[in-house]
Amino acid sequence: MKKALSGLLLVMIFFLAFYLNSLFGRETPEDFPGHPVSLSLPEITEITGIIKKGETLSEIFKRHELDMQTLYKLTRASRKVYNLIKVKPYRSYVINTLRLEGSEREEVKNFRYSIDDSHYLKVIKGPEGFTAEKVRVVYNKRQSLVTGTIRDNLINSIGNDREHMRIAFDMAEIFESSIDFVTELRRGDSYRLLVEELWLNGVFKGYGKILAAEFTNNGKTYEAYGFKVNGRPGYYDSKGRSLKKALMRAPLRFRYISSGFTYRRKHPILKTYRAHRGIDYAAPRGTPVSAAGNGTVKFAGWNGGYGNLVIIKHPNGYETYYGHLSRIRKGTKKGKRVSQGDIIAYVGSTGLSTGPHLHYSIKRYGKFLNPLKIKLPRNRTVPAGLMTDFRNHVESLRAELQQGDNKERIAQR
Ligand SMILES: [Zn+2]
Repeated sequence: MKKALSGLLLVMIFFLAFYLNSLFGRETPEDFPGHPVSLSLPEITEITGIIKKGETLSEIFKRHELDMQTLYKLTRASRKVYNLIKVKPYRSYVINTLRLEGSEREEVKNFRYSIDDSHYLKVIKGPEGFTAEKVRVVYNKRQSLVTGTIRDNLINSIGNDREHMRIAFDMAEIFESSIDFVTELRRGDSYRLLVEELWLNGVFKGYGKILAAEFTNNGKTYEAYGFKVNGRPGYYDSKGRSLKKALMRAPLRFRYISSGFTYRRKHPILKTYRAHRGIDYAAPRGTPVSAAGNGTVKFAGWNGGYGNLVIIKHPNGYETYYGHLSRIRKGTKKGKRVSQGDIIAYVGSTGLSTGPHLHYSIKRYGKFLNPLKIKLPRNRTVPAGLMTDFRNHVESLRAELQQGDNKERIAQR
């Protein structure tokens, strides 16, 4: 026992001596084999942020006391891929900097900037300087169901965060030719949406496309199924009919209707009774006016009482008129092909007009029709050759739409 204790004591003394030697001894860690070497580890910092409105990269660099010469090199290296002088607000950026021990300067090692929701700019510093590339963001996609019932308004029902508001607007756009989401929603209306969820490295990044939707408005159910025809995405009902109408009832965002369609109206300036064969949509001067459907510009210029006027010719004998414009957009010229939704001009009060509004008319084979009353022509249906594919596609989307309600799971996130 005594022997064992003295042995232990000996071992302890040995280690103490060893320890004291390492503290006071001549040997430095470098020439002591097997001893861990103290490395001068660089300090890596990550600066992340969202570009504010009107903010430039040079302001961001100044704020973080980063070298301006580096920003210049970075901008020059990226020039062919993206112009960093014109960064956009609300996009995110990441700057990784490195500080070597003993150095005061932060050195930018790499830089990332989100160009849009599916691409980012990646700039890396290598031995030859900065190199830039545009990288596609690869999301993991999942499907999820968003369902709800409307008590007061759609946004209160679906959620007022940015992502839910966006899918609410997308849904309103999908059904815009059947339901007016501003005036026609009723308490008790309900919806089911099959939506793509985008995930990046295990983090939910937002919603993608609406894959299928069902909306019950005032007891009537409308369906929408996303489907590509010749590479062009669109939404169709279960019979393969496009949900997009070939013409719009109102080709702008308006405040109110200041004059309806009538065959007899007292003209506000002429004070005589004349027919008003169009709809007057009151909107602030400069409000963009879109082409109501695909077609060709037939007229763009001054036309008496209409003031600045655009006329577009559409398939199947339809024509649309846009009057009292403050300005016709550059490029909106006779013979120009336009697509539905293209901005063609801006609201004004030119010609015989008492205030800023758009005079909008729909004419078919020479006869003016009431844009608010007519049954709007539909866009094309799914071609016969794709109908089998389409039916199978609808079948599987329907099954997904009808699965159990998992709104709770989404709301909890
Ligand atoms: Zn009018």
